[in-house]
Amino acid sequence: MAINRQKITLGISACLMGQEVRFDRSHKKSNFCVNELGKHVQYKSYCPEVAIGLPVPRATIRQTRIGDNDSNIIKVSRPDGSGDVTDALTEYGQNVATKIDDLSGFIFTAKSPSCGMERVKVYYQHGKGASSDGVGLFAKEIMAANPLLPCEESGRLNDPLIKENFVLRVYAYHQWQCLVDSGLSKHKLFDFHSQYKYLIMSHSNQAYRELGRLLGDGLKEADADIANVAGAYIAGFMNALKKKASRKSHANTLQHLQGYFSKQLTKIEKQELTEQIDEYRKGLIPLIVPLTLIKHYLLEFPKPYLASQKYLEPYPAELKLRYGY
Ligand code: SF4
Repeated sequence: MAINRQKITLGISACLMGQEVRFDRSHKKSNFCVNELGKHVQYKSYCPEVAIGLPVPRATIRQTRIGDNDSNIIKVSRPDGSGDVTDALTEYGQNVATKIDDLSGFIFTAKSPSCGMERVKVYYQHGKGASSDGVGLFAKEIMAANPLLPCEESGRLNDPLIKENFVLRVYAYHQWQCLVDSGLSKHKLFDFHSQYKYLIMSHSNQAYRELGRLLGDGLKEADADIANVAGAYIAGFMNALKKKASRKSHANTLQHLQGYFSKQLTKIEKQELTEQIDEYRKGLIPLIVPLTLIKHYLLEFPKPYLASQKYLEPYPAELKLRYGY
């Protein structure tokens, strides 16, 4: 059955949506997820603990490392070891993981033994103390089976850079999913790469060059295996976007964009834009400032190739994600 991708769909831990499904019948409603991002995407919520039959309210469960401190055997149960739900959570996660082709991202609840994406507390079976190197059993299965799927957790989304990066990856991945649904072709792959040129460059110049080479070499023969090349391309593409875009790399990208107007801008206008890019590089103003000026010049001096660049608006501007860094 064809997937309806008109609206971006994200998976989310149910308690982040405000559902009272936690052990103490509380929720962990995320204002950003529900009231901000929620205006632009739709959610499918999952509470793995309720899904495997645990009641609300319920006794708390936690991860315990079985055996010595280096052991990789983790069990999830009540603190006294009773009520082991390790297999049930893992099986539920595996089951959901195969049925989420319609999702373009997933937001998990931080620190949960079921939903935490990283740094989940793991108690030592013998002796006191705990390490913070666990992964929630449900989240682990979702991420393992869908390595390209953009995933984040609630606590980390308070960081403006991480939040921006997650939303950026969701929108890019969704566009890729739509492209694949519409049928792959050489032209569509080159076109996608072209639209994302400056966005990829803002994360990694090297990745942009390598991805370009991958398409150029992989698709040059008439009988090229397009699906194979596309698989390698999207893996490299999503990996590149995961890399933090620094102020320096953004500033370099902005300079490239500035170059499109070298013939039209007056000396004073060029100087003003150069100063803004420089101030952004130094951390004195947010990215939105020089970008707004570039967009203004783009309206004044239309350039179709530049206008097609995802870098200029990779997600809805109302999310205001470029004001914070
Ligand atoms: S963190 Fe996950 S398992 Fe726990 S209440 Fe929220 S959705 Fe349910």
